[in-house]
Amino acid sequence: MNPLEIIPVAHERLRTVRRQHFIGGRFASTSSTEAISVTNPATGQSLGTIPNGTSADVDAAVAAARSALPDWSRRTPGARAETLFAVADVVDANAGLLAAVESINVGKPLAAAAEEIAVVSDCLRFMAGAARSAQTPAAGQYLPGLLSCIKREPVGVIGAVTPWNFPLMMAAWKIAPILAAGNTLVLKPSQLTPLSVLLLLEMTADVLPPGLLNVVLGRGSQIGDALSKHPGIDMMALTGSLASGRAVARQAADGIKRVHLELGGKAPLLVFPDADLDALVETLVATGYTNAGQDCGAATRVVCHRDVHDTVVEKLVAGAESLVMGDPGADDRVQLGPVISAAHRNRIAAMVEQACSDGAKIATGGEIPDRSGFFYPATVLTDVAAGTQMARDEVFGPVISVETFTDESEGIAKANDVDYGLAASVWTADQRRALRIVDQLDFGTVWANTHLAFATEMPWAGFGQSGYGRDNSTYALEDYTRTKHVLLPMDGTAD
Ligand code: NAD
Repeated sequence: MNPLEIIPVAHERLRTVRRQHFIGGRFASTSSTEAISVTNPATGQSLGTIPNGTSADVDAAVAAARSALPDWSRRTPGARAETLFAVADVVDANAGLLAAVESINVGKPLAAAAEEIAVVSDCLRFMAGAARSAQTPAAGQYLPGLLSCIKREPVGVIGAVTPWNFPLMMAAWKIAPILAAGNTLVLKPSQLTPLSVLLLLEMTADVLPPGLLNVVLGRGSQIGDALSKHPGIDMMALTGSLASGRAVARQAADGIKRVHLELGGKAPLLVFPDADLDALVETLVATGYTNAGQDCGAATRVVCHRDVHDTVVEKLVAGAESLVMGDPGADDRVQLGPVISAAHRNRIAAMVEQACSDGAKIATGGEIPDRSGFFYPATVLTDVAAGTQMARDEVFGPVISVETFTDESEGIAKANDVDYGLAASVWTADQRRALRIVDQLDFGTVWANTHLAFATEMPWAGFGQSGYGRDNSTYALEDYTRTKHVLLPMDGTAD
């Protein structure tokens, strides 16, 4: 069977998917008259519209989340786990359709979308289990006659805002730990890619108790902002750009709300002459151009020892040029789809232009192809000078830049010379050097001789301007709970 046979089925399904807010377990109409267009970035064709919600819609969603909170937060972790397992079962049963919708709305190859849907299910299942084995310090007697213990409680109603690059996966990275910990939430998916979330809501309406997961559609500047300010929201969680992170943190500060931020990245790969260069380049091509480079941990920046620079560039250019670019919905050989929008493509092109003004050279790519859809080719830039925009800012597109170094300390300093601190990797055959350097790289995830491998059991979290929230792992669960110190008399005076 041709794997792409699911694509027309998904298009047909998208014709009927409900494009409304989801409040208190029901799709709900909006008071807004403004509609936002959703686009297939591979063709530029419309996938219909969604409403741009209003603050009244946010009020209704927060009220629904709040009224569902007492019952949900009092359920045992085991009972909550049953609900999350039921949602994961729905995801698994509809994985092909959900992947196809993701492929159509983001313009990514179906196989890549299928991997993400598997992660959605895995995250739900992991958090369901993890909530049942939450750890706290052992109860103990720290004051005469009093037993101290820690009660781990949900924070309350969480506002969650998610990006367009991995729509359902990023939503699941919020929904799963937030619900597993006993909170309820109002989610605002990206207005560019709301379709997979809407489809999942239709599919899970029978298994999710009303009010646990509420969704308000619309623009970040309105809905994200209204959530951040809302007195009924106890905590904000956002995955997105630095600018949105700052906006949410500012608004939340007035209400002294907790904020959980997963922001941008600019991952360097520090390459020594003894590295396996074939493995390096294979990984670079796979993880630098995956999702058209629109991945916060993408391998975007090679900090390469001078001795192997020419070999690395030659192999990387060959790898970049070997990628099949096109509409992933029309040809299953496509490895490089479009970027998300015309505006985003223009931003990428402007950054490449600026890099060239700053002295960089285009080794391959760098020209917008003359075709429909928002395509940008796999690009390699050399001679990128330290400290320039290309060396420090996130491109979020299929552009890999190459810088050079001569000694270890210079290489480490260059790799660290970026405000983001999400992820990095070191490439060397010398295990001692790898260990030494892992220690000195200032990033939340550091790989040796690989890149972009992650596990649901381990935290995905950045340092510096990449934010301070932790997705995945039991740390995420912890982030969505609060600790209450309970002291009980040991001598029976409580009777
Ligand atoms: P974005 O910041 O433009 O949008 C993210 C979400 O925030 C969207 O839902 C958007 O509507 C909303 N938003 C925008 N302005 C807002 C505001 N003022 N207040 C509240 N919400 C607002 O980001 P994007 O373009 O959708 O996604 C790309 C960015 O996300 C990149 O910087 C990327 O690195 C980052 N990202 C980070 C991770 C991570 O795990 N650290 C994962 C995926 C994406």
